[in-house]
Amino acid sequence: MSAPRRLLTRLRDLMAKGDSRGGVAPMSELVRMVAAELVSEVCSIYVARPGDILELFATEGLREDSVGRTRLRVGEGIVGLVAATHATLNLADAQNHPAFAYRPETGEEKYASMLAVPVRRGGRTLGVLAVQNRNPRHYAEDEVEVLETVAMLLAEVLAASGAEGGEGGLAATVSRRFAGATLASGLAIGKVRLLGPLQAPKQVLADDPRQEQARLDQAVAMTRQSVDALIANGLAVADGAEADASREILDSYRLIAADSGWLKRVGDAIRGGLSAEAAVHRVAGDLRDRMRRIVDPYLRERLADVEDLIGRLMQALTGEAEAPKSAPGAILLARRMGPAELLEWHAGGIAGVVIEEASPSGHAAILARALGLPALAGAAGMLEVANDGEPAVLVAEDGEGGQLILRPEQDVVELFHRAEAARSARQAGYAALRDKPAQTRDGTPVELNLNVGLALELLQLEATGAAGIGLFRTEIAMMARGSVADVTDQAAIYAQVLDAAGDRPVLFRTLDLGGDKLLPGTARPEENPAMGWRSLRIGLDRPAVLRRQLRALLLAAGGRKLSIMFPMVATVAELRAAKALLRTELARVRPQPSVLHVGTMLEVPSLLWQLPELLREVDFISVGSNDLMQFLFAADRGTPGLAGRYDFLSPPVIEMLAEVAAQCRAADVKLSVCGEHASRPLEAMTLVGLGITSLSMPASRVLPVKALLAELDLPAFRAVLAGIRRTAAGAASVREPIAAWAREHRLVQ
Ligand code: PEP
Ligand code: MG
Repeated sequence: MSAPRRLLTRLRDLMAKGDSRGGVAPMSELVRMVAAELVSEVCSIYVARPGDILELFATEGLREDSVGRTRLRVGEGIVGLVAATHATLNLADAQNHPAFAYRPETGEEKYASMLAVPVRRGGRTLGVLAVQNRNPRHYAEDEVEVLETVAMLLAEVLAASGAEGGEGGLAATVSRRFAGATLASGLAIGKVRLLGPLQAPKQVLADDPRQEQARLDQAVAMTRQSVDALIANGLAVADGAEADASREILDSYRLIAADSGWLKRVGDAIRGGLSAEAAVHRVAGDLRDRMRRIVDPYLRERLADVEDLIGRLMQALTGEAEAPKSAPGAILLARRMGPAELLEWHAGGIAGVVIEEASPSGHAAILARALGLPALAGAAGMLEVANDGEPAVLVAEDGEGGQLILRPEQDVVELFHRAEAARSARQAGYAALRDKPAQTRDGTPVELNLNVGLALELLQLEATGAAGIGLFRTEIAMMARGSVADVTDQAAIYAQVLDAAGDRPVLFRTLDLGGDKLLPGTARPEENPAMGWRSLRIGLDRPAVLRRQLRALLLAAGGRKLSIMFPMVATVAELRAAKALLRTELARVRPQPSVLHVGTMLEVPSLLWQLPELLREVDFISVGSNDLMQFLFAADRGTPGLAGRYDFLSPPVIEMLAEVAAQCRAADVKLSVCGEHASRPLEAMTLVGLGITSLSMPASRVLPVKALLAELDLPAFRAVLAGIRRTAAGAASVREPIAAWAREHRLVQ
């Protein structure tokens, strides 16, 4: 029997002994065994305590009376550094390492070398396991592996004993708050559901390495097959350049799947005595930790591939089907999430979502607002301390930050219920406004429309009394299905929208896929997907797809009024090409629409210098401020850290909009704004102040904006806005003077 396996077998017997006594495996025996096996004078276990502290929990070799007394902060000393970085440190001369922190009570000054490994479980650091030797020595690779394997076992023991993270599992009961940015306002209370960290394997050790290796080989073969099938399917829906691009990305995925390096390390861990699941879990954890430290965004993206593959491999090993995306009433916590996945979870009944890496104008956020699903971004660190199934409160306030409160105290829960009651009362107050005309205090009419993408949102037309649908994002319905529907199915979807809208106008936007709005199997290796091959560019390069959609829209209208809007138009020539396709389809369809209006999104800045020609081609223009802002300021809308950096209420944006509004008025072309900015109080007010009186927004914002505008003295505000514009040149923002006026007039708090 190999040395590592012998050690693991002895450790397992030790744990069984602890179990049979109905108690915790004796840690003092564990450290003695490990020290003996690694021929080290010292072996110590440090356990994480509340407040980011590591406490000496058991030791062989250090002074017995320092147990429970010696404490280090996470990040302090070598042990603290290992806990902070989740990385093993192998030091021949530990005392001269810059992080070394001397603790006289331990008597450790005699020991020169140190090997310290993190004890991790489910993405959390529970402690640190370390060995020390008098002689300066660099520990061999197999010794490092043995200690890492023992750490894995130790994690299970600590978790089972409740010793992890605090006295009697204290950390698991302490309430924790995480600040975040509101993506979609609302309140939710429920049990958390964690997405991301791999669940710890049920069985860590195995008796028969050959059998485990055979299980692994079989699971790897199954995973390869499923990846090959995925590639074949992905390519079946693509053609030409798209197929080449898909092939490239999927091939790189296959490469990771077949990479023998990490599979060999899994094999080594199995030979060391681990079960196949535990071996995959351990190697995968290392791989993920290493990838997480990579700064390059493309390589970091590959992390998602690695996580996905590991998930598939684990599934093949355990024989468990992919867990259904269903968690009624739960608050979902995720590192990141695309819009398609969010749709699936919404269908699975979640009550709220917190996404660490998301930004307010990204598509997951837009979708959360459309779905009325309370959502927060940020809350960094939540995944490391949250446990599946524990209670939490999510508070996301409009215009303010939000909070995720894990393990809330009773008074917080009560506060939450009071806030919920106040919110319902506010909503009831808004509801009374539903049938009142949308206008400013002095009677200037304003058209408030809905941004919609899902059939279930159509009910909001009645609920909000909106004038119509100012943006129907057709790609959302396709993402919900997982593919672009054929002509008949598309026509049925669009007809349902027109039926629900009745006499109210609907602007259908043609497919705006690409960027972060991807159908399964169509991921593309682009450096800048938002500026890549997306939206109308795909439509013009794949005219069959766009023509099918245009035909479906015409069929759905069946003699009714129809308005079609093209997204991401960058040149008048592109718009003309799209209109030519529409004309071809129009010639084939009977009955023709009673009125056919054609327009464009204004979201690519190049159009600003083509306005005279553009205005001759369109019946309407709708400003897509989400994309327009990111391209005007060269600031990615999906990068959370840039979210508040550039202000919509700033001279370049205001002057640009004033100019567009003037030219549209002169050409008698209708202008609206449908980006998220139109739904915010100060922004909506400013747009109306600039004479843009058609706004389109998520359903939840229609009545609050209506309430605000009803109190707005427009002539007075126009004069103030004109004054602000005269003196604002060069300012990064004019939000404050606008906000001050609005506060003074009790329009906002
Ligand atoms: C926009 O860019 O402002 C817009 C409305 O389109 P989307 O958010 O769907 O990209
Ligand atoms: Mg857009």
